[in-house]
Amino acid sequence: MKEELSAEIAELRRIHSGLTGIEERTRETVVSGELPFEASHEGLVTITESFDIELIIPEAYPAELPWVRETGNRIDCNYRHVFQCGRLCLAVPVEERRIFTRQPSLLGFVNRLVVPYLYGYCYWKEFGEHPFGEQSHGAEGITDYYVERLELNNDLAALAVIASLLEYGYRGHHRCPCGSGKIVRMCHGAALRELHEHHTPETLGVDFRAVLEHVLSKDGVEGLSRAPALNGQVRRLLEAKQVGGRPRRRPGGIGGGFGHRSVRASAASEGAPLARLV
Ligand SMILES: [Zn+2]
Repeated sequence: MKEELSAEIAELRRIHSGLTGIEERTRETVVSGELPFEASHEGLVTITESFDIELIIPEAYPAELPWVRETGNRIDCNYRHVFQCGRLCLAVPVEERRIFTRQPSLLGFVNRLVVPYLYGYCYWKEFGEHPFGEQSHGAEGITDYYVERLELNNDLAALAVIASLLEYGYRGHHRCPCGSGKIVRMCHGAALRELHEHHTPETLGVDFRAVLEHVLSKDGVEGLSRAPALNGQVRRLLEAKQVGGRPRRRPGGIGGGFGHRSVRASAASEGAPLARLV
């Protein structure tokens, strides 16, 4: 095991001493055990609980973030922020990355992502609502994340923001993709720059596919064709195959799930009308 990783695991265990298991596999390291916590959120009730978890740390960590499974079968199957394989949906990937960056270590990951998730779950179980606001899952969740975080007018604006980052990266002097008519620097500059920092082309591609899928499933092709410039940009991106390839598969992760089949099909049929997407 790399020295940095064992140091991080040691730091994690100094605080969370129940995480006693450690298993080195070919492409990942698994830390497992009990995670007791006492947590509260903005004046809401304090919750004391303990869950059995597995923290799966990929070989490419920290470039790739760990993922977590709850192993005590305590999470209600009606709770939607869990993937089928039992992987906890801690946050949309770019938000995970954003939060992780504030304390980039396994301890930071557990304290800032895993414990809040489990707190949110317990709160939901107890009171039937989410303490951090209702969040959607999957493609809709990713779309909502952009709309809410950037205070956009609609889902198309979310698609435009991601398409713009994919095609041009951060360009302060461009017109803001939100549709305000202002230049980026005078509008969503700070937020776009932050997104740009926490994304790779690959993760942007995953979000692009998700938001596109969501837009098409909600408004159909007509919705997108009402925004000809964006429609053209989407076509360009799909044809450039920047977003057409198979995303890196993470078990139960966002990658293989939604939007994938249809977008790939369209990338294969270059020049076909966008209507063929659906
Ligand atoms: Zn803007």
